[in-house]
Amino acid sequence: MQRVAPEPQEFDRVLSSMCTEPHPVAREAATRFFATNPGDPATYQEVAALEARAVDALGDIAGLPDPHGYIASGGTEANIQAVRAARNLARESGGRPSKTDSPVVVAPESVHFSFQKAADVLDVELRTVPVDEEFRADLGAVEAAVDDDTILVVGVAGTTEYGRVDPIPELAAIAHDHGAQLHVDAAWGGFYLPFTTHQWNFTHADVDTMTIDPHKVGQAVVPAGGLLARDRTTLDALAVDTPYLESTSQATLTGTRSGAGVASAAAVLDELWPDGYRQNFESSMADAEWLAAALDSRGFDVVDPELPLVAARIPDDLFDALRAADWRISRTASGELRIVCMPHVTRETLRAFVADIDTLV
Ligand SMILES: *Cc1c(COP(=O)(O)O)cnc(C)c1O
Repeated sequence: MQRVAPEPQEFDRVLSSMCTEPHPVAREAATRFFATNPGDPATYQEVAALEARAVDALGDIAGLPDPHGYIASGGTEANIQAVRAARNLARESGGRPSKTDSPVVVAPESVHFSFQKAADVLDVELRTVPVDEEFRADLGAVEAAVDDDTILVVGVAGTTEYGRVDPIPELAAIAHDHGAQLHVDAAWGGFYLPFTTHQWNFTHADVDTMTIDPHKVGQAVVPAGGLLARDRTTLDALAVDTPYLESTSQATLTGTRSGAGVASAAAVLDELWPDGYRQNFESSMADAEWLAAALDSRGFDVVDPELPLVAARIPDDLFDALRAADWRISRTASGELRIVCMPHVTRETLRAFVADIDTLV
């Protein structure tokens, strides 16, 4: 019997994913480097050099001239590592016993669910606080929740559900007043925000660590997340000795890891930063505004897009009918339709989507 090689899904009806079609240069680099292991940099030196390049480029994007960090398996690993670094630094500083015995991470309730995994794995308390009516971290609530046990405050720069940017400079000030670190989760938003007026990066605020993922808006192949730190000591706090490798220590959470993700990130950052990413942002933002206006004019309640992500309240039966028509769409926790205008989402696709809405209502 003749076998047909399975094909992945097409991207043309994918409207809810934070991943996208990799850029051709990312695909090509991934193919060349898939059999390398940046977890063993003394053996796989070429890919190790590419990783350093990719981290430097991420530093450029995030306003950090001398960045420390690495290409992680994704935003989840980078977020877990940010919590782990804060916990270890608190231990090493021999500060208040409460910071070591019962460490607390304070974050807005809009924070990504990867922080629940971090709290579980690292046995720290995740204390989430309400957001304001614009879906941003409520500073009063954060201030009230932060205490002497707090090791880390998290701000999100591009929330998963509504694309909102928390007030990062103010969150940094609150964190540092309490001897805690400030982590910015820009896993999705980090490749859009340089082209906005938002205050989100290492230059704008006293940010200690950041998650910024090449495998989302950066158009690298999966797996390519990014962890950045302002200080060398943060990476040192993550490092363990590596007896059987030529390199002497390892700060990553995974051991053997994909050279494909690393090489693809280096290649696509070289290719697209800054002009290609600026074009992506401008066209995706215009598309999001177009979609928001189209939904609004049809009488649906729309959450104004701040980044290229549109949420709107539509009836359940319409949502189900659109899914049945093969649109890959998803809902926010409170039930709104959520459309992520990733690089593969074109105006033509959105016109076809709105035309289907008109047919189905
Ligand atoms: C996607 C996302 C994550 C998780 O990243 P993965 O690469 O899926 O592990 C974390 N934070 C935010 C804000 C995200 O959008």
